[in-house]
Amino acid sequence: MVKRALINVDYTVDFVADEGKLTCGKPGQAIEGKVISLTKEFLKAGEYVVFAIDAHHEGDSYHPESELFPPHNIIGTKGQELYGELAEVYQSNRNAQNVYYFDKTRYSAFAGTDLELKLRERGIEELHLVGVCTDICVLHTAVDAYNKGFKIVVHKDAVASFNAAGHDWALGHFENTLGAEVI
Ligand code: ZN
Repeated sequence: MVKRALINVDYTVDFVADEGKLTCGKPGQAIEGKVISLTKEFLKAGEYVVFAIDAHHEGDSYHPESELFPPHNIIGTKGQELYGELAEVYQSNRNAQNVYYFDKTRYSAFAGTDLELKLRERGIEELHLVGVCTDICVLHTAVDAYNKGFKIVVHKDAVASFNAAGHDWALGHFENTLGAEVI
C-alpha cells in the first residue's frame, strides 16, 4: 500500500478567524470540520501528519511578502496559532512520532524546509493537502510536490480561499495540470 502523508497548510487564526490579519473568513471557517476529521483519521492510522505553518518576524523588510500583504502570522502571536479545534488536536498529539510541525517562510511548504527529507525518509509517495489558501500556499505546495514526483490528493472540502474565483481555478489546475486527484 502506498504510504501517505497529510499536509496541513496554514490553518491559523490569522488566515481563518474573523479577526485574522489576512483571513479567508467564512469559506476558511466552513472547512474546519473536514480539516479536523482528516487530521484525526491520519493520526489514528499512524500515518504522517504535517503542519506547515507560515511564520514571519515583525517588520521584516527583507521578506518579499512585506510589500504584498499586511503583517500576518507573526511568530509568538495569537495569529500564528492553529485555528479552532485543530489547535487542541495538535496539542494532544504533538509528541507523537508521526506528527511534524514546522514554520515555513514562503508559500510552498517545501521552500527552505526539510519537508522533502522527512517524507523521503519515511518512503511517503502520496501527499494529501488541506488548509488555506487554495490558490496561494496550497497551490505552491502542490506545484513543488508535482515537480518532486509526489502523487497529490487535494480534498476540495478541506481547502479554501478568500478569492472564490482563485479557489475554483486552483482546483482545476490541481487536476488538469498537476495530475492531482481532487476529491
Ligand atoms: Zn506569509
